[in-house]
Amino acid sequence: MQSESGKATDILTIDTGMRGDQAITGAFIVRGEKTALVETGPKATVDNVLSGLAEAGVESIDWIVVTHIHLDHAGAAGTLARRWPEARVAVHELGAPHLTDPSKLWASARRIYGDAMEELWGGIDPVPSDRITVLSDGEVIALGGRTLRAVETPGHARHHHALLDDSTGALFAGDALGVRLPDVGINRPATPPPEFDLDQAIGSIKRIRDLDAESVWLTHFGPSDRGVNPATPAEACDEAIESLSRWDEWVRAGLKQSREPEAVTRFVVERSREALESSLGPREVDRLELTTSYSMNVSGHMRAIDRAEAPSTS
Ligand SMILES: [Zn+2]
Repeated sequence: MQSESGKATDILTIDTGMRGDQAITGAFIVRGEKTALVETGPKATVDNVLSGLAEAGVESIDWIVVTHIHLDHAGAAGTLARRWPEARVAVHELGAPHLTDPSKLWASARRIYGDAMEELWGGIDPVPSDRITVLSDGEVIALGGRTLRAVETPGHARHHHALLDDSTGALFAGDALGVRLPDVGINRPATPPPEFDLDQAIGSIKRIRDLDAESVWLTHFGPSDRGVNPATPAEACDEAIESLSRWDEWVRAGLKQSREPEAVTRFVVERSREALESSLGPREVDRLELTTSYSMNVSGHMRAIDRAEAPSTS
């Protein structure tokens, strides 16, 4: 738990300690008259979230709000909803069915994570459908004296929202801006299968930039304007676009040599390490590589390129 200084002074970050790693995956407490938890981390680390809430003096939560349904963001939603039977769970309309019946979500994650599933994610509890509030673009969660507004931001996933806190101007970006760890200070894209779409992702980052938020809070990890290389929201957005575009060049260059995902991944790893090692120490490179795997990013990116290049059937 860390108190945050500055304008968004009353937003509290809980470190979910996902995989036992510190400051990689966050959940955020936003308090009006009612209390919202933005993001939940996976079920495997729900005890850390419960301790973080207790430490902050939060006895009950009214809203569990997730930017999207990937397990590092929403995996504990069902578990927390059981803990607080009055709480509502807010999610993008396309994500909602997967929270009520997580079987497809689980199977899709298994294709990426294989045998590591249980240890990484710890299972997933469904959210009863009558507990879900489906959000569409622009819709608002009223916390009493404070609101969270859903901002449609597809790209990382089709069903992705950022959430804008009207009271502090803080924008919870989920994975729309990729990953930026405060102790590393460099952006890394997050382009997983099956839904990643480059044009949508860049469009969403531009949309976030145009919102002119006071601060942007990445789930991985925290506000961009703190840490070793602080970035304003506009800088963080520009950097995210640059970093996505560079990966896109690498993936396309790798694809010119081979269509094999392993070969393209090796190509991207070489290019990326070369670029990272010019500005980061080995510890920082390792930290960044804890966040999103090369093979996952490359397979999501290749899938997006294939989809964009497939002949239209309509
Ligand atoms: Zn995600």
